[in-house]
Amino acid sequence: MLKNCPYAIIFIGPPGSGKGTQASILRQKFNFFSFSTGNELRKEIDKKSVLGLKIKKIYDEGALVPDDIVVEMAKKVLEQEGINKVLFDGFPRTLEQAKSLSLFLECKNWFVRVFYFDLDTKVILDRIAGRFSCKICNQGYNEKTLKPKVDGVCDNCGGCEFVWRDDDKRETVLKRLDFYEKMTSPIVDYYKKKNIAYRVDASLSADQVSEKVIASVEEMLK
Ligand code: AMP
Repeated sequence: MLKNCPYAIIFIGPPGSGKGTQASILRQKFNFFSFSTGNELRKEIDKKSVLGLKIKKIYDEGALVPDDIVVEMAKKVLEQEGINKVLFDGFPRTLEQAKSLSLFLECKNWFVRVFYFDLDTKVILDRIAGRFSCKICNQGYNEKTLKPKVDGVCDNCGGCEFVWRDDDKRETVLKRLDFYEKMTSPIVDYYKKKNIAYRVDASLSADQVSEKVIASVEEMLK
């Protein structure tokens, strides 16, 4: 289906639905350029850059960073020389962002497939309570469901330092879920109308989810 045509995979889902884990599996398998607005924003906050200082409070409260900031970040990525297969994790997150992205991609003939991760709120709260990630490469883990193979050592890069996110506190997660319901879930309908949205049952194990997502991407690349 896709002959020399640039393409984008978009992951949409509530916090804790496993988007980040799947993004890292897909990135390794297909050699995508993977772009997570959450990771980029955390880097800015850690650097204490002008942007980082501006968005820290919004981020800490679990609210959404203004559309123009994240849309600009995404455009910068897409305008880079040689970027022709991109995986978006956590972007777009509002209808406004989705429309800006569509405008940009459609006029350059990008092919787009959207995976939306569907998961019950109770499971989300349990999952987020145990998650942490490698300080060096961002590989995500979970104390209950996805521990590193060797205790204390990252499977991906061998790093030994891990971080727990500030915005994973229960009350912040509840706010993030609220934002997801109000601001992000309408995007799913937007993409359904374009016939490019695929549901992912995010209650399955990480291996089962990746098997299904990989099969769908392989079918798309035929
Ligand atoms: P994530 O790592 O994707 O869960 O994102 C963490 C936080 O970064 C979110 O709770 C928002 O504050 C912010 N963020 C990430 N992506 C976006 C986006 N596309 N639009 C607005 N805010 C975002």
